[in-house]
Amino acid sequence: MAQLESLNFDNSYVQFPAGFYQRIEPTPLRDPFLIAFNPAVAGLLDLDPCSVQPKKLAQYLGGHKPLPGSEPLAMKYTGHQFGVYNPELGDGRGLLLGEVLNQQGERWDLHLKGAGRTAFSRFGDGRAVLRSSIREYLVSEAMHGLGIPTTRALALVGSEERVMRDGMMEPCAALLRVTQCHIRFGHFEYFYYSRQHDQLQLLADYCLQRFFADCLEQEQPYLAMFQEVVRRSARLVAKWQAYGFVHAVLNTDNMSLIGETFDYGPYSFMDSYKPDTISNHNDHQGRYAFARQPAIVQWNLSCLAQALLPLIDKEDLIAALDSFPALYETAELQEFRNRLGLQQVAEDDAVLVKELQQLFAQQALDMNRFFRKLSDFDGSEQSLTDLMALCCSPEQLTPWLLKYEQRLLQEAASQPIRRAQMRAVNPEFILRNYMAEEAIRSATEGDFTLVHSLTDLLRKPMQENPDFAHYAEAPPEWAGGICLTCSS
Ligand code: AMP
Ligand code: MG
Repeated sequence: MAQLESLNFDNSYVQFPAGFYQRIEPTPLRDPFLIAFNPAVAGLLDLDPCSVQPKKLAQYLGGHKPLPGSEPLAMKYTGHQFGVYNPELGDGRGLLLGEVLNQQGERWDLHLKGAGRTAFSRFGDGRAVLRSSIREYLVSEAMHGLGIPTTRALALVGSEERVMRDGMMEPCAALLRVTQCHIRFGHFEYFYYSRQHDQLQLLADYCLQRFFADCLEQEQPYLAMFQEVVRRSARLVAKWQAYGFVHAVLNTDNMSLIGETFDYGPYSFMDSYKPDTISNHNDHQGRYAFARQPAIVQWNLSCLAQALLPLIDKEDLIAALDSFPALYETAELQEFRNRLGLQQVAEDDAVLVKELQQLFAQQALDMNRFFRKLSDFDGSEQSLTDLMALCCSPEQLTPWLLKYEQRLLQEAASQPIRRAQMRAVNPEFILRNYMAEEAIRSATEGDFTLVHSLTDLLRKPMQENPDFAHYAEAPPEWAGGICLTCSS
């Protein structure tokens, strides 16, 4: 096991030609202090969590000392923001510190978010605020707990430094994000639109080697890679739709090539199922509303396809894009089958799921609480009452429930087995906006207890926890009034 000073850095991105990035050191953050540290992520890096001294880690993350072995750089990328191409993007407030190779041969990127200005900061100050850093830290663990692919974080530091957001001064923070891939669709768009097609190919070759080695054995590796990106993206957005997750800023620069949820901002898990939910107050047109996410992901894939035109035949790219809706539907249906405890495949399952989604929408149901209660549904009076209690018009539930009970007759598993299977995919706890808000409010007063306890809770969201039973209940009324913006 390594210590912070002896992490096994093996930096490959820095070996690209200079046009791929800007080499730059983090700008020191005033008086950094450690807020949270994630031993599970330390494990991925072969880092001995017990050897980590909070003060030292805060110095490294606060940019006061270079982390031995790191070679910080700001990646250049561009992308489509709200449908419009922006050539000026890149890491404007985060730096890739380097890559750590672990003993399993996995290569993990360490990215310091909130590290100060870079050549790509435009009008920004290069900082991340405490509020958004806590939200990212919490949700990445929550997503991981739910089994939804996501970036993660090793640690979070706070600071006395303040910056202006939405007209107010706010404390800064920095988060060390860890994932195997910081390459976004926008990386390819940069080289395509700046007509650097040799560099585009260099990047594609790198991605093939590093993330899609299986595709190298295919007749057309670049095409095989794109097809795999389409598949992974379809599976990812299917999970979002199945758990009521709204990403809220699905620009192409926030799309990970390996199909992870990436670059958290004003995201939310819906407390009540409303397909037109817009989680970002700045998204006036509702471009990134909940129900639009699958279509938007496909649109984003079409931007990536466009950027890959110098490497892949146009007809092949179109065919791969056209495969998205079917891939998505299959993945979505499977997610819902799992949540409904259906192990068998029946012809009418898609109808059963559609009708359930309609019911959710009609009643603005809390889908996550519904599925948890449905896991316990055994036909008894009590379990029926519990389920009905979630509905504003319970009589509308009855016809669907009867169909569902009929459908269960085709299943081999007994009710207790099904209950266990369903409880393994239907969380007791989900990161609701108000929970993050409570953690942020107390953190702003210097109390980080809730950040820690929510992290622990959400890491194992399927497990009951009597100490936090209130978080499994309906959210308080004030939850509806929370306003999230791009700076969230
Ligand atoms: P995001 O909305 O986080 O996806 O960021 C979009 C673009 O703005 C990226 O190029 C970011 O690096 C950049 N950016 C976001 N916040 C800041 C900031 N505070 N300072 C500088 N650049 C930023
Ligand atoms: Mg971004």
